[in-house]
Amino acid sequence: MPNVDRRRALGLLAAGAAGIAAAAAPELWHAGPSRSARADGRHGGTHGKGPVQPPDPGYAHGQPMQALHKPVRSLYDLAPAAPQNAIALTIDDGPHPTYTPMMLDLLAAHGVKATFNMIGEQVVEQPKIVQRIVNDGHQIADHTVTHPLNLPALSTAKISKEIGEAHDQIAQTGGVAPRFFRSPGGNWSQAVFDVADQHKLICVDWKIDPRDWARPGIAKITSAMLRAQPGDILLCHDGGGDRVQTIDALKTVIPKLKQRGLQFVAL
Ligand SMILES: [Zn+2]
Repeated sequence: MPNVDRRRALGLLAAGAAGIAAAAAPELWHAGPSRSARADGRHGGTHGKGPVQPPDPGYAHGQPMQALHKPVRSLYDLAPAAPQNAIALTIDDGPHPTYTPMMLDLLAAHGVKATFNMIGEQVVEQPKIVQRIVNDGHQIADHTVTHPLNLPALSTAKISKEIGEAHDQIAQTGGVAPRFFRSPGGNWSQAVFDVADQHKLICVDWKIDPRDWARPGIAKITSAMLRAQPGDILLCHDGGGDRVQTIDALKTVIPKLKQRGLQFVAL
C-alpha cells in the first residue's frame, strides 16, 4: 500500500508544519464564522453521488438541533460581513490534471477568485496544480483525504484521520493551511463539526447546487447557477468525472452574474 505509506509519511512531516501561516493572498476577503453560524443544525444537501442519508444517528433519533453546529451556507453567516453583492464560487473534488487547469484558465480570464475544496490524496498527486491554485490567489480548503460520502458514519478516529491528514497534505503541498472544510456530499454530524473545530476549520456548505456532477447538460447547469443571489455560495466541480459541461456553463454564468453586479469572492 505505497499510497497509504506515502500519506502517512506526509502526515508525519506535516505534523511539524502546524506553524504554516494562513497567508492568503491580500485580495482575498478574510472571513470567519459569525455567531449565528453556530446556532443549529441541518440535514446535508445533495452533492456528490447518490441520495443523502441521515448523516448521524443523532438526527434520526431526535437529538436536539440546538446541540449541533451548522455549516455556513451564506456569506452572511460569516464575519466580517461579506462585500455587498458578493457571491462565492466553490469548486469541489479536485485537483484534477485535466479539468482544474481548464478551470483556472477560465477563472483567470474573468478575474474571478474561487475556493477549491480539495481531496487530499489528489493533492499529493498534483502538487503543481495545488501550487498554481494558491499562486493564482484562490482559497484552498479541506475536502477529506479520500472523499467518503459516509463520513459521519465513520468512527471518530477515522473522521479525524480524513480531515486532519487532508489538512496537513494541503498545508504541506500548498504552503497555506486550509481554513475551511466541506464534508463530502454535504453530509454533516456533530463529530464532523467537532473534528473540524479541532483543526480550526470553518464548515462550509452551499446554497446553489446545479448538480453538475451528474452532467445534466450545459443549459441546466447554467440556469441553476444563474439563480444566485447576493450572499450565495455556489457549488460546482473540477473533479470526479468529465467536467467539460461545468466549465462550458461557467463561460456563460460568470459574465452574466458579473453583469448583474454580483462580485465573486474567495472565502
Ligand atoms: Zn465532493
